[in-house]
Amino acid sequence: MKPINPVIIAGGGPVAVVLGLALWKQDIPVIILEKEKEPLMDQRAASNHPPTVEMLVSLGLEEILEEGLKAPTYRIWDRETRETIAEFDLADLKNELPYPFVLQYEQYKTVRKILELYGNQSGYDMRFLHEVLSLKQYSDHIDITVSMPDGSIELMRAAYLIACDGAGSTVRKEAAINYSGFTYDENFIKIGTYFDFGSISGVQYRNFWLGPDEWCNLFKVNGEAPDPPIWRGVFPMKIGESQKQAKSPQGVQTRLQRFFPKTGDYQIAYSNVYTVHQRVAETMRKGRVLLAGDSAHSNNPIGGMGLNGGIHDAINLSEKLGKVIRGEADDTLLSLYSRQRHKAATDFIQCQTIANKKMMEDKDPFSRQARFEKLRRISDDKKLSRAYLRRAQLIDSLNAAAETV
Ligand SMILES: Cc1cc2nc3c(=O)[nH]c(=O)nc-3n(C[C@H](O)[C@H](O)[C@H](O)COP(=O)(O)OP(=O)(O)OC[C@H]3O[C@@H](n4cnc5c(N)ncnc54)[C@H](O)[C@@H]3O)c2cc1C
Repeated sequence: MKPINPVIIAGGGPVAVVLGLALWKQDIPVIILEKEKEPLMDQRAASNHPPTVEMLVSLGLEEILEEGLKAPTYRIWDRETRETIAEFDLADLKNELPYPFVLQYEQYKTVRKILELYGNQSGYDMRFLHEVLSLKQYSDHIDITVSMPDGSIELMRAAYLIACDGAGSTVRKEAAINYSGFTYDENFIKIGTYFDFGSISGVQYRNFWLGPDEWCNLFKVNGEAPDPPIWRGVFPMKIGESQKQAKSPQGVQTRLQRFFPKTGDYQIAYSNVYTVHQRVAETMRKGRVLLAGDSAHSNNPIGGMGLNGGIHDAINLSEKLGKVIRGEADDTLLSLYSRQRHKAATDFIQCQTIANKKMMEDKDPFSRQARFEKLRRISDDKKLSRAYLRRAQLIDSLNAAAETV
């Protein structure tokens, strides 16, 4: 008889390692199965909103505060005139937040940090080159077929299987959970450059440049010392634009020079093209399968909400699963997890990111001006700007999830 492990997590990305840590801190042993041979140096997420920072610090990751960049402010610009439309300052929420800033800390560093601190601890069992292939649920356990490092196939058994295997989740598909929504026609391109955009007057660590022809989100990250910090620009591509051309040295230079003309070439750190989805799983629990992170919801990166939402899933789920495993609650509590985080994903993260994209790309001169007026009015009024920040930093989404029964 195979032993039943309490929890197996499929995928070893940022949501998986945070969830694993949050369970391990409750003395629940975890096995994390990652198909790659080592942690991915994934240059996607970097903006951690204040509630997420609080969650990560409470898990013992204080070091990230010194290693990341603290961004209390962000600025919204009109790319056409290069004028500031509005600026928001998280110091306005300093009485309600222990960490009133966004922490710019790349997602691969969160993975690296957790594995560095906890990867060798007994009960925190991270296994690379282990790919989850299929599953079968029973009344008291779940059987998981796994491809092993030597290419053989093995059966593993768990009381619960948590899908943290990203937007293309094998576990979600195997559990026959719908992932409905849509995919944008255009791709996004992210370009990292060592050029110091901070030398330009008014540029903050986080900037949103609204543009009817081409918008840009511009952020600073620390990158890898001794290399200089990196400024990341995320831009929309034209529908049908070739990825190869966009990522070519000339394509990247042309795009950056169009955004901010300067003498000489930009020194490029990296670039990548992304297909962008707005999708939410119909449920985040089916029997003994639970979904968290991109396996449960995927959204455009404007506003930096995908991974934040995934970490919020991880913390919510770890608290409930801990109670179920210790016998302090029956497993209907896991359905509450699904309802709460589904609400956060649909009513907040999806709504907000779709609205953010519409704002960035708005082409109608009248509605653009109306948006600018509204943003100015909000940023000039402390009460309105605090409300705006609570929504943008996912504080409202956490409160709404907590009130969901
Ligand atoms: C350009 C860009 C910028 C972004 N910026 C932000 C931001 O600033 N803030 C933010 O909150 N979000 C941001 N996001 C979104 C963020 O990157 C994702 O939400 C986040 O990576 C999701 O984490 P995850 O752990 O759920 O999934 P992933 O990071 O996708 O990790 C999934 C892991 O599972 C592994 N895996 C897959 N299938 C299997 C299998 N069958 N068996 C075993 N392992 C498997 C993969 O190898 C991978 O390691 C951004 C996205 C993009 C595209």
